[in-house]
Amino acid sequence: MLDISLSHRAQSIKPSPTLAVTAKAAELRAAGKDIIGLGAGEPDFDTPDHIKKAAIKAIESGQTKYTAVDGTTELKKAIIQKFKNENNLDYEMNQVAVQSGAKHSLYNLFQALLNPGDEVIIPAPFWVSYPDMAKLAGAEPVIIKTTIEDSFKISPEQLRGAISDKSRLFVINSPSNPSGVCYSEQELAALGEVLLEYPDIMVVTDDIYEHILWGQDKFLNILNVCPKLFERTVVVNGVSKAYSMTGWRIGYVGGPASLVKGMNKIASQSTSNPTSIAQAAAVAALTGDQSYIHESTSVFKARHDFVYENLMKIDGINCLKGDGTFYSFPDMNGVIQAMDNIRNDIELAEFFLEEAEVAMVPGSAFGAPGCMRISFATSMEKLEASMERIKRVLA
Ligand code: PMP
Ligand code: GLU
Repeated sequence: MLDISLSHRAQSIKPSPTLAVTAKAAELRAAGKDIIGLGAGEPDFDTPDHIKKAAIKAIESGQTKYTAVDGTTELKKAIIQKFKNENNLDYEMNQVAVQSGAKHSLYNLFQALLNPGDEVIIPAPFWVSYPDMAKLAGAEPVIIKTTIEDSFKISPEQLRGAISDKSRLFVINSPSNPSGVCYSEQELAALGEVLLEYPDIMVVTDDIYEHILWGQDKFLNILNVCPKLFERTVVVNGVSKAYSMTGWRIGYVGGPASLVKGMNKIASQSTSNPTSIAQAAAVAALTGDQSYIHESTSVFKARHDFVYENLMKIDGINCLKGDGTFYSFPDMNGVIQAMDNIRNDIELAEFFLEEAEVAMVPGSAFGAPGCMRISFATSMEKLEASMERIKRVLA
């Protein structure tokens, strides 16, 4: 067989571990095992009907051709309105663009901004794709570590300590995947103060969990509390989590026109426009009835409370109350230390998968070894069963 050696670029990264756990759970289920999947990073609800109908209408009315690379006028206008109404941010048409999922928005941003040798400052625990996306752009991820004692949030001193003359981009994700915690207004302002001292550093705020929030009255990103960063901040968002539209692949950005133009150039030579039909559906999502958001968030909150209370009852597990998202991120170092045959969170996740038939993503994938990400985007019935199984195998 021909030995095909992959590019250094492809060799420098690993497959997305969150997607890998979900795939592994599906494979074991197909082989007849009764696996409960707590790995999935997507809402378990169906996409609301009015959104699906808009997509069907788009197909039937012939919206089946290429659109502008950066998205249809209609969708871009809806995004501008969304940013204005919900985030108090003003953008022009050349400052917003649509991509095939927020993951793709981030990818194109990293590609358009970063050069080899640039550093990307990423607080841990982080969403799995940020460091590898930095590497794909030839840049170096600089990870700021936090622990459960810090509520998994970085301090202004830590941010300052991570900055060098190579720093090019700072990534913030609040509410956070995987920790579920949210930075407060004061905490964001303190980080903003540090960033204002370093005008060469760009900022990306990944607001994808904006709506899945209960720990604060109102969602705020770093730009809301530090408007002076406007010229060098990119806001990333999408419809995947807010409207249970993960499969539709629509993400979008608001940011400096020149940078957005660079992202569009990259899209024009790679993917072209995001799917025309999904764009029509995203218009319906952003402009239509918003009740789904409130309904789903209250369900996630109830599940969060259940998972939190149950985890806290288990010896060796320490957990924070989350502010939002559909993840809990318990510290399981106590459990690992108490078990003779388990050395780390990866082995512990394997143990849970084999012995309890419960799939979770080990904290190492997020830069926080010893922790475990539990997605509660699944039914209460399955959550109850999984908590029972975890307790049983640890007893
Ligand atoms: N950012 C974070 C923090 C996420 O959890 C996800 C979900 N995979 C994304 C971005 C990307 O979402 P999508 O590509 O589905 O819009
Ligand atoms: N964001 C989700 C997760 O963290 C989806 C999987 C992925 O895109 O990596 O699980």
